[in-house]
Amino acid sequence: MRAGETSAANAIETALERATEIEDLHAFLSLREERARREAAEVDRRIAAGDGSALPLAGVPVAVKDNIAVAGGPTTCGSRLLEPYVSPFDATAIARLREAGAIVIGKTNLDEFAMGSSTENSAFGPSRNPHDPTRVPGGSSGGSVVAVATGCVPVALGSETGGSVRQPAAFCGTVGVKPTYGRVSRYGLVAFGSSLDQIGTVGTTVEDAALALSVIAGSDPHDATSAPEPVGDLSAGLDDTDPAGIRIGWPAEYFGEGLDPAILAACEAARDRLAEAGAEIVEVSLPHSPYGIAVYYTVAIAEASSNLARYDGVRYGLRAQSSELSSMYLKTRAAFGAELKRRIMLGTYVLSAGYYDAFYGKGTAVRARIRADFEAAFERVDAILTPTTPTPAFPIGEKAEDPLAMYLNDIYTVSANLAGIPAISLPWGRTPARPDRPALPIGIQLMGPDFAERRLFEIARFLEREAPSA
Ligand code: GLN
Repeated sequence: MRAGETSAANAIETALERATEIEDLHAFLSLREERARREAAEVDRRIAAGDGSALPLAGVPVAVKDNIAVAGGPTTCGSRLLEPYVSPFDATAIARLREAGAIVIGKTNLDEFAMGSSTENSAFGPSRNPHDPTRVPGGSSGGSVVAVATGCVPVALGSETGGSVRQPAAFCGTVGVKPTYGRVSRYGLVAFGSSLDQIGTVGTTVEDAALALSVIAGSDPHDATSAPEPVGDLSAGLDDTDPAGIRIGWPAEYFGEGLDPAILAACEAARDRLAEAGAEIVEVSLPHSPYGIAVYYTVAIAEASSNLARYDGVRYGLRAQSSELSSMYLKTRAAFGAELKRRIMLGTYVLSAGYYDAFYGKGTAVRARIRADFEAAFERVDAILTPTTPTPAFPIGEKAEDPLAMYLNDIYTVSANLAGIPAISLPWGRTPARPDRPALPIGIQLMGPDFAERRLFEIARFLEREAPSA
């Protein structure tokens, strides 16, 4: 675009057309047609004026999960509660995308307030997997991943509390990144579990996801938990990586019961490719990771029950009509979906006097052990290789009535959030076709120590070149 081979206007028109073609997959909740066109014209003017080199993402169409604020438009969070809400400001990540010349074309579907693993909890209906529309795309950032997987946009923003970027990336065959806690400002990301939440990037390629992360990362006075560590260039020269001497951890705990054999085989093939290229494969132990689901679904719901208290009909979004205050609260909050109500009740319970120590207190103690396991492992290895999910994409409806089955899908992703470390999912071929299911994308995961995003991208880029074509 900066070389003048195409224009921002053209790129945005193509993306908007594609968004209409894929309407049946329900990736988007809203499109910003007119604003995106105006912004594209402005980017084209700047390129013509010789300003292009200041715009690393000049005219790049981007899709944004609808729990990240984009000024002047909706941020529904997939919820009836925020359906009428209009964002008064840009999230810091959005402001940084704009400064880089990127153009937000629309807001994408998600599980209500990012709580779910399939987008079936969206108040506006599920998204569908482009590889098999009868299956879920994963969640909660399902819409953002579908927008990338269908070629509508090269990059998108999602959010991660327990795997919500990596899991749908694995289900749809894209790259998905969960940065170190604090790497990206949470200002303008609607809070779910504040000690876990991070904005992450989805990309067609490792390089695209890395470039987008370079743009949005870095400290921000609006978020006291954003980290001061310098970001550096996360995407240049990734091709030059030589895996010789890199130490890759292989944790037995991640390859046990319940793992689809095709996904196990994919991880083994990736491991063997690294070993053939000179990487050292080291068995590591993460003994507390099997408790990850129990800990995550204690800590995350406790924080969620607290964060969701603000949706009381007074300050944001929906207000039910009532002549009396307490019934206005009740009627407004009745608009939360079933999964939200479950989490608010259970989250309040685990924080309540008399149960706090046994549940929330125990959860945070085991969380510290999970983190300590990783710290010990990263004394010996540079990165850890695991599956992203135990199974490929499941049929819409299969787990909708069984919360525990849905939660178990997050078994390999939640530990990185609990530990605060960075992780990436990248595609590695497909499952073989079976009578009951077509060939479906497989995701493999790399986890690294705090702020080792660059190293993860280097290894991921090597694997991306080696991966069987999807
Ligand atoms: N599936 C997990 C949950 O429902 C993770 C969601 C997320 O990362 N936002 O809590």
